[in-house]
Amino acid sequence: MAYTSLYRKYRPDTFDKVIGQDCIVRTLKNQILSDSVGHAYIFTGTRGTGKTSVAKIFARAVNCLHPVDGSPCGKCENCVELASSNNFDILELDAASNNSVEQIREITDKIGFPPTVGRYKVYIVDEVHMLSTAAFNALLKTLEEPPQHAIFILATTEIHKIPATILSRCLRFDFKLVPQAVIAERIKFIFDDIGVKYENEAVGLIAASGAGSVRDALSLADMCVSYCNGNVTYGGVLEVLGASDPKKLRELAVCIAEGDVDGALVRVSELCDLGKSVSMLAKDLAELFRNVLYIKNCTQANKLLNLPEEIYAGLKTLADKYSSARCLSIMKLMSKLEGELRYTSQHRVLFEGAVVQACLNEGDVKADEMALRIAKLEKQLATLKKSDFNSRPAIMDARQVWVHVASRLSAMGYGLIAMTVQDCKLEMTDSEFSVLVPDSATYGILSDKANRDALNKAFAETKEAAGRALKLKQQQSLDEDSAAPYLKDMFGTLLEIK
Ligand SMILES: [Zn+2]
Repeated sequence: MAYTSLYRKYRPDTFDKVIGQDCIVRTLKNQILSDSVGHAYIFTGTRGTGKTSVAKIFARAVNCLHPVDGSPCGKCENCVELASSNNFDILELDAASNNSVEQIREITDKIGFPPTVGRYKVYIVDEVHMLSTAAFNALLKTLEEPPQHAIFILATTEIHKIPATILSRCLRFDFKLVPQAVIAERIKFIFDDIGVKYENEAVGLIAASGAGSVRDALSLADMCVSYCNGNVTYGGVLEVLGASDPKKLRELAVCIAEGDVDGALVRVSELCDLGKSVSMLAKDLAELFRNVLYIKNCTQANKLLNLPEEIYAGLKTLADKYSSARCLSIMKLMSKLEGELRYTSQHRVLFEGAVVQACLNEGDVKADEMALRIAKLEKQLATLKKSDFNSRPAIMDARQVWVHVASRLSAMGYGLIAMTVQDCKLEMTDSEFSVLVPDSATYGILSDKANRDALNKAFAETKEAAGRALKLKQQQSLDEDSAAPYLKDMFGTLLEIK
């Protein structure tokens, strides 16, 4: 029998098995249960976060005769027919290899024909940003007036390349990177299911290497199972990753931190002789000092890093000996080196240069300069807190008002909207009622014209809200953009924010 990868074997076939995208899954399930599906969706997010899997489940669910809690039942005749890859109702197109206007026309010309099996014909277009301009225009025409039986699901990793005209026709869902702990739990479930033994830390390392992508983590898990012959150990995963021996790496780190050039160069030579690539060494060193910074500054470091005990203990010794500034400056040097290595073939020379520089570079920002920066930062934080406080006088009252608006919305047949807002932060002043939406997917739903009109109408008719204007705002997440100025202030030139 042909080998099936873990990623394919454990690909979710119902919404309940999708991990890390609870908000999206709930919204789609509700649309199916309330029979209010749209005609055009756009799914965006990093590779391996579940866009295509969710699209396929959705495509089968809208056609299922007896959906189970919004998911396809897998048993009815429609589900059985649509499970076959050459059915005519769920059409998958990879825009990376089919990006011409002719190929899109081929689809749109036939779109008038009704589905052969269920209620809907579903077109899933993967990597939709690869379409040519002419192809986008052809697609737009169809999206403007889709037949009742057609649903388009466009998936992309690069939302910024999609024309605004297309975006405005689609319900947008942003797939999040899946948290490490959630991926780890999934891997443990799979390992248990296929009868593979594992160390918890090994699974943690695999999950972390996936960097939020379930697909990448499961591909690595696949390799580790074969490599470790049924017993996945931390050391085994390190070897599959090509990572450096943690003990040798720590010895090098100690030499660097202590400014011992002689010792550091000997260790570099040893590690290189073991066949480790220099770019991997630089990455591992940067990672090591990042872990040390965690241990120094984060009370939950032990839990978050999830390292084997002896490795953690070794790093803890380092953490006790060196200042955060010293660790940061070494980490910065190694990260910078990682970037430079891409443009040269003199890897080892460059690495040795950086190691010597790290040894010699005392790096510590002078204490008084640091104190000044901290004082400035504290001042900024104080003003932030004050304004934050002033605009949020009565949270409980806002909730109570919302209950009345929500009951009106439900009476109008917009129960889903009422439910969606429940997760949002509500704020109220004498003149304004603000709904702070946590993510852009929800924001997209709420700002859809029909939904927005219903929301406005219900609000205007609620006497408890009288005299206030309804405001819909997307909550600013503390992403790089907003955090950058403060981090820059705190660490100055020590930290490069990319
Ligand atoms: Zn079914």
